[in-house]
Amino acid sequence: MSAALPTLLDQIVIVTGGGRGIGLEISKAMKAAGAKLVIAEAEEAVGQAAALELEGMFIQTDVTDSSSVSSMVAAVVASHGRIDCIVNNAGICRNTPSEDVTDEEWRLVLSVDLDGVFYCCREAGKQMLRQGYGAIVNIGSMSGVISNHPQPQAAYNAAKAGVIHLTKSLAGEWASRGLRVNCISPGYIGTPMTKLGFENPVWREAWLSSTPMGRMGEPSEIASVAVFLASSASSFMTGSNVVVDGGYTSW
Ligand code: NDP
Repeated sequence: MSAALPTLLDQIVIVTGGGRGIGLEISKAMKAAGAKLVIAEAEEAVGQAAALELEGMFIQTDVTDSSSVSSMVAAVVASHGRIDCIVNNAGICRNTPSEDVTDEEWRLVLSVDLDGVFYCCREAGKQMLRQGYGAIVNIGSMSGVISNHPQPQAAYNAAKAGVIHLTKSLAGEWASRGLRVNCISPGYIGTPMTKLGFENPVWREAWLSSTPMGRMGEPSEIASVAVFLASSASSFMTGSNVVVDGGYTSW
């Protein structure tokens, strides 16, 4: 079997948090590769705008609510009949010293960044298992491999480490039934999530001086990898954690 170049012609691709930041660039890249898009976003205005621009479908979804996720998956299957790929991109970050993190903040971060990824994998996975094929792409972080500095973000780092290991666990369970589950772990990427940190001169200096390439990444530099992992160009990959970080974790 020979690997193919990336194309997603007429494939049904869901992107959670697909209306802004990295998710929006992933949505654009999936569309450019030929996919039929579903944007599963919490904020209606953001999701609607992206769906309109990219001629996709918007389904309001809160990934922390498993019934919202299962309704979203059911709606996609009702209108398209199948799911070829889901990109679990929705995520949040909080920068709080660990001794000051409240129970509520800990649970909020874990519920979006880890519970949400699991609910989406499980609900889309059920449909993919019925089909006998499907690609799941989880957006982890290099924060699941190293702990960032100087900003404190233990809950985020713990959740992202969980996403990487969840990916490997599901890949092993589902490989024999036709599913591939992979993870992308970005380094620092210029989005609304990192805007405030990048404007802080101490953080910016630490981030850039720890990155061999000396710059932040563009969301499109994550999106191209997501298309690759969604497509049959990565047909022999499952359980992989693809780190895309300008070299950060190599130092
Ligand atoms: P943004 O803050 O720009 O976007 C986050 C997205 O997640 C938004 O679309 C947001 O939707 C969505 N979202 C948040 N909570 C929920 C929820 N409960 N249900 C559904 N959607 C939700 O972040 P980025 O684009 O920077 O991050 C995207 C992913 O990449 C995240 O998983 C993040 O952890 C990861 N990442 C980012 C890095 C970076 O440097 N930027 C580095 C490493 C990983 P809404 O608009 O509705 O709020």
